[in-house]
Amino acid sequence: MAAPRVFPLSCAVQHYAWGKMGSRSEVAQLLASSDPGAAISEDKPYAELWMGSHPRGDAKILDDRISQKTLGQWIAENQDCLGSKVKDMFHGKLPFLFKVLSVETALSIQAHPNKELAEKLHLQAPQHYPDANHKPEMAVALTSFQGLCGFRPVEEILTFLTKVPEFQFLIGDKAATQLKQSMGGDSRSMASALQSCFSHLMKSEKKVVVEQLNLLVKRISQQVAAGNNMEDIYGELLLQLHQQYPGDIGCFAIYFLNLLTLKPGEAMFLEANVPHAYLKGDCVECMACSDNTVRAGLTPKFIDVPTLCEMLSYTPTKDRLFLPAQSQEDPYLYIYDPPVPDFTVMKMQVPGSVAEYKVLAVDSASILLVVQGRVTASTPTTQTPIPLQRGGVLFIGANERVSLKLAVPSDLLLFRACCLL
Ligand SMILES: [Zn+2]
Repeated sequence: MAAPRVFPLSCAVQHYAWGKMGSRSEVAQLLASSDPGAAISEDKPYAELWMGSHPRGDAKILDDRISQKTLGQWIAENQDCLGSKVKDMFHGKLPFLFKVLSVETALSIQAHPNKELAEKLHLQAPQHYPDANHKPEMAVALTSFQGLCGFRPVEEILTFLTKVPEFQFLIGDKAATQLKQSMGGDSRSMASALQSCFSHLMKSEKKVVVEQLNLLVKRISQQVAAGNNMEDIYGELLLQLHQQYPGDIGCFAIYFLNLLTLKPGEAMFLEANVPHAYLKGDCVECMACSDNTVRAGLTPKFIDVPTLCEMLSYTPTKDRLFLPAQSQEDPYLYIYDPPVPDFTVMKMQVPGSVAEYKVLAVDSASILLVVQGRVTASTPTTQTPIPLQRGGVLFIGANERVSLKLAVPSDLLLFRACCLL
């Protein structure tokens, strides 16, 4: 009997403090649905579900016929299942970590280094930069999902400098004037002016930041109490962030970075050096295997200001939505294929009228998550079909042909991470 190359997984949950509490969390809901034995504590945050082989959350294999306990252990001994190109390029390891996130309070504003910088930082300061890899990320919304991503167009930043004198104060007249004058010039002088403004903000003295933030919070609160709408300067968001992170420099970042509210199925891609933050909502996320994060605020953690100001991509971009392509071979399949080799995310939306759905075979190990619907999965060689419902996670070895029979005639929503080389 051939060893199974397709099997269900039980995935690790991370209870970080910023997660949504109890059963309001998509992570908790998926967990409760897939594992009726899982007891959800309503007073505990369920922040992340890790679907992969990361040492801090290696998925457990739910198949008695397999001797290895975890996905990481199994892959180490079955590297061919990664796919031949993936195996060679990523040295016998699964190159991505697939996650579900349920965000209640904002995560830190951050950026991730490219490979070259990651190698340098890891060599210089391994205590802050634990590996030498880059960490591109993609988030696809499951519910309405709010985040900050990339620098705003300069016109928008200039408008905030006029409307928010506290913001202008921290940046200073000189840098603000330089930014204004860079308008209409070449992109290099604009980037340099933007860098100068951002660096002034980040290098402001803590005491001055707190003073200016308090002035702004007071001003917005008074205006809101008087019945005035402050949405032209994101009054509500500013108050919300200040409540979560009082006195934090990151509160001002909303005037520098694009604010995105993704609808379910919409995505953002965070390439190297793009400043970003997740603010609220649920998403599936895929990333390269790395823990290298340079933080810029909304955090009590270490902020490496010089590295951050130096590394960021100061290219203002308005439209940060990342659009999937509909597959030519499968009308139910949408492919989010970022310009990095490490991962691709697929979304499958199958109407309940389809009795059987064939999952596209790819030359890569992949991980499939059932967000909605109920199926039984089988391959040409499986003896017993594998039942999967909402929250179910399936590992699929490279080139395996998996067929899903709909157990009930209701629509299916599936996400899958793989590596298309
Ligand atoms: Zn990130």
